Amino acid sequence: MGKYGKSIVLIRGDFMYRYHDTEINILQGDITKVEVDAIVNAANNTLLGGGGVDGAIHRAGGKVILEQCKKIGGCPTGEARITVGGNLPCKYVIHAVGPIYKDGNSGEKELLYNAYYNSLKLAKEYNLESIAFPSISTGAYGYPKEKAVKVAVKAVLDFIEEEKFPKKVVFVLFGEKDYSIYESYLEEIFKDI
Ligand code: ADP
Repeated sequence: MGKYGKSIVLIRGDFMYRYHDTEINILQGDITKVEVDAIVNAANNTLLGGGGVDGAIHRAGGKVILEQCKKIGGCPTGEARITVGGNLPCKYVIHAVGPIYKDGNSGEKELLYNAYYNSLKLAKEYNLESIAFPSISTGAYGYPKEKAVKVAVKAVLDFIEEEKFPKKVVFVLFGEKDYSIYESYLEEIFKDI
């Protein structure tokens, strides 16, 4: 029995897992192309755009996203804010701010956990039933990928366990290495449950 308990219904499909009634998928590719109710952006405190996935989302979504971000006026680390999706195929973008990784003892884990958890809280508030996440903080912010996946998956499974929401979560990994890290970690924990 794994740490999430025996009573949990969890079925592994081909690249698809089920936790309670939520489908969990992993995908390798560009998150701006994913058709879900909301994609999550790995934003920074200013919400004014940046490099990496943030830049890609603003470029593909158009200036309405930046206009709404300016009105919001920033976001503390570990929290999330929502805008429309503009020209993106998703309806909304949830801008979550992950921590910059320092030494692993500066609250990074809690802040990363909160970034995922608070994104899902917002999704629930807006009744957005399918949500796609990038690997927050693991690019420019330097969070080690093997550590980050554990925090990301725990936050998502905890939320599903507590709220029985959303219907679908997709982890979108840009690189092949990131994808295989998620693939092996999900395989490992789902085998244990
Ligand atoms: P952070 O500043 O939070 O580290 P980055 O955007 O630098 O954010 O990196 C976060 C992750 O997003 C990295 O794993 C990076 O490879 C990935 N990434 C970059 N562009 C995209 C994209 N278009 N779609 C999905 N993931 C992306």
